Amino acid sequence: MTSFSDDNRRAGGGWTDDVSRNNRPRHGLISSSSVGSANRGRILQALFDLGPTSRADLARYTGVNRATISGIIQPMVDQKVLVEGDAIPANESGGKPARPLWFSEDAQPICAVLLMHDSVRSCLVSLNGEISAESEAAFPAGTSDVRVLMDVIADCVGKTLASAARPAIGIGVAAVGMIDTDKRAIVAVNLAPLLDGFPLGVELESRFGLPTSIDHHPRALLVGDRWFGLGRGRRNFAVVYTGDVLGGALFLDGHLFRGPGGAGGELGHTFVQLGGRRCKCGRIGCWETIATLGWLREEAGNIELPGAETMTAAQLGALAAQDVAAAGQLLDRYAHNIAVGIANLQQTMAPNFIILHGDVVGGGERLVTAIAKHLHELVPWRPGGEIELALGDHEDVAALRGAAGLVLSDLLHFPL
Ligand SMILES: [Zn+2]
Repeated sequence: MTSFSDDNRRAGGGWTDDVSRNNRPRHGLISSSSVGSANRGRILQALFDLGPTSRADLARYTGVNRATISGIIQPMVDQKVLVEGDAIPANESGGKPARPLWFSEDAQPICAVLLMHDSVRSCLVSLNGEISAESEAAFPAGTSDVRVLMDVIADCVGKTLASAARPAIGIGVAAVGMIDTDKRAIVAVNLAPLLDGFPLGVELESRFGLPTSIDHHPRALLVGDRWFGLGRGRRNFAVVYTGDVLGGALFLDGHLFRGPGGAGGELGHTFVQLGGRRCKCGRIGCWETIATLGWLREEAGNIELPGAETMTAAQLGALAAQDVAAAGQLLDRYAHNIAVGIANLQQTMAPNFIILHGDVVGGGERLVTAIAKHLHELVPWRPGGEIELALGDHEDVAALRGAAGLVLSDLLHFPL
């Protein structure tokens, strides 16, 4: 059986080709082997969009005949990437019973890593999004040697990989801070400057001998939502993450937006207040200065709310629900501050559907309703421009699934 992680994959012998985002020619035509890989990627994407689907329905969805679909799918069934489910009885119009295709439980998993400024999490992600073999570690305080952090990360990843019943096909990293996706390095992390410039993707690849992809944490969230969450099947949407920091990512006209070298998505450092507060990045008036936990805790302290130093959107929502008037007013101001940045994003790119992640999710429907109210006041309505907000996943699951998705899309080199 051909293995995902065979070395021959690198020689083009597996079901993926040796064409990474890094060495793909910008203006080259697609070679015949790459067409095969791109078609496999599109079929997998269609399955992610549709759920378990028969060959006939996949043929209809992708606009090709069944023979073409079978030619693409059969190798993936042979390689145990896909499996055929139980036959569904034929419909009234007759025809052969359909056997829906879905991802095999026996397919090799992907190792996903979530790097935060003070800790690391890793797990295995199956092709149908199931998470297992979770491992977690905090960084020691006060170290000045980045190798110490790397050892913690490698130990965490090593534990996850050692629990895998089948070898992982690659490692995907969702990392906080600014990331150079081409060099697979961390450019800068405001809350953990020790990691600035660290080539984490390259280090992990050389330690574990597995193809490794790394991207900005909100972009991984977006990929997780695109493949397994509320973004499924959508052509346009955005994610916004709030917490200690603020970031976002955009999916536009069917593609993940990624600037040169992975730039862009630094929504937290777009400017919303000329002459405002100084941000951790050193600039003044960034969105992050008024729509993250630092702002919320300071303001909660100013009005002497209980638990101000550790205030979260969930706690604020609970206080507001108890009719603490000052809490309700602060919640509304926080919602307004979050809405201001989303309004700028909507005015610029019109994603129309925005999935909120991170601390803001804890504020629940009350906070999201308040954000939506301010957003509708800030952005004039226009045809086709109805804005919807949704609450995403609070528990980093989307980020881990998205980190896994980064690996798959790189291995299959299909556009996300
Ligand atoms: Zn800033």
